[in-house]
Amino acid sequence: METTKTILRILTVYGNAESRDAYVIRDFLKRSVVTFEWVPIADMAAFINIFPEVYVVEGQNLPAVKLPDGNFIFNPTVEDIACNLGWITKPKLKEYDISIFGGGPAGLSAAVYAASEGLSTVLVEREAIGGQAGTSSLIENYLGFPGGISGNDLAERARQQAVKFGVDILLIRKSVKAQFIDQKLHVDFTDGNKIIARSNVSATGVEYLRLDIPDEDKYLNAGIYYGAGASEAFLCANQHVFVVGGGNSAGQAALNFSKHAKKVTMIIRGNDLAASLSYYLLDRIQQKKKIEVLFNSRITAVDGNNSLSEITVSNSVTQDTTVYKAKFVFVCIGGKPNTSWATDTAIVRDDAGYFVTGGDLYRPPFDKKWDKSFNPAFLETSVPGCFAAGDVRHNSVKRVASAVGEGAMAVTFVHRYLHDTY
Ligand SMILES: Cc1cc2nc3c(=O)[nH]c(=O)nc-3n(C[C@H](O)[C@H](O)[C@H](O)COP(=O)(O)OP(=O)(O)OC[C@H]3O[C@@H](n4cnc5c(N)ncnc54)[C@H](O)[C@@H]3O)c2cc1C
Repeated sequence: METTKTILRILTVYGNAESRDAYVIRDFLKRSVVTFEWVPIADMAAFINIFPEVYVVEGQNLPAVKLPDGNFIFNPTVEDIACNLGWITKPKLKEYDISIFGGGPAGLSAAVYAASEGLSTVLVEREAIGGQAGTSSLIENYLGFPGGISGNDLAERARQQAVKFGVDILLIRKSVKAQFIDQKLHVDFTDGNKIIARSNVSATGVEYLRLDIPDEDKYLNAGIYYGAGASEAFLCANQHVFVVGGGNSAGQAALNFSKHAKKVTMIIRGNDLAASLSYYLLDRIQQKKKIEVLFNSRITAVDGNNSLSEITVSNSVTQDTTVYKAKFVFVCIGGKPNTSWATDTAIVRDDAGYFVTGGDLYRPPFDKKWDKSFNPAFLETSVPGCFAAGDVRHNSVKRVASAVGEGAMAVTFVHRYLHDTY
């Protein structure tokens, strides 16, 4: 298979092996395809021992990131790192033909098609490029990659394609307010910047659901991780890893961990993996001796000191509870849509928060929620010129290929909208 090795910069990250801040940095760098070396060290005293020549101010703490120019930044946020890599840029234009929210497969696809077809395009991503797909260790069912492709490799290729066509990419941006004024979307960002766009494609996808148990937050990124843990797999060598969930993302994660871990335990609520897992994954999981599946089970308690050390698993059929020693729990139990930015707009959402588009807007119960002043195109929301693509859409397919397809399709509707409106 053809591979692109996109080495952006080389960084070294020093931190305590159990540090949640260090995990957040590793996860961001991995998803952003930044080559980095991870060096676990105990504390600042150990750091000073290794680097006696580095001037350390009182209060500076691990993790420390060594930048390509040799300088260190201490306990940085991902924004600090992105800033140091020159990734935090200001919008180049005051007004764009199209703004795209979300840098997952749907948003990247919309960006590539829009810019390549001559629209001035801005893509706003609140975290790292790639979305959920960027966390996948190997996507095997995306057309054109018979050997599979890792999610972050696919995302990085798409990012390069978007940049080539002139897309203005604003990374690590959170909007504080989005409002429609005179048929244009006005967006204010937390950093004070503002953009105006004549049309919008919302491709903000979904974010992970939580376990919803006591003390979950205490061990977040310190033993409990949301997602498939692509950045952590190599750290789990000879460990017992727990994966919660029985869908394709959980199945992929279990197979990926089984390459490194001593044992992988999948914890699923149902009594059958076949109901939720693609056949090709099911087949491989059943053949892997290292992977065991606990059916009818869920985690009901977690415990530890600074990081997770044990979990309690309850069986809903036998009512048994079992305590396991656990340092790595990866939660892949689906998600909820990222649509809170649209709360105060006239965009109709379903009960779970997904954007309702096209013909669905004419069906109950959504038909009563908007004024029917225009005839929305297939991916158009109840606000003219505002489209939704990918997982964030009501009744979407939840696949990389469909997200990419919808992103491209949305741009065709944007052209028609701009032609008819301006
Ligand atoms: C581990 C894993 C493995 C998977 N494997 C496969 C597979 O093998 N094959 C397959 O077909 N599908 C797979 N999927 C599903 C697939 O990844 C998703 O269907 C696809 O990523 C959806 O793309 P999207 O662009 O709609 O949304 P997402 O991928 O969810 O991307 C949304 C993006 O929007 C950003 N965002 C959210 N809110 C805002 C905001 N307010 N402003 C700006 N940006 C925002 C997010 O940070 C994110 O980057 C997998 C999913 C996971 C989690």
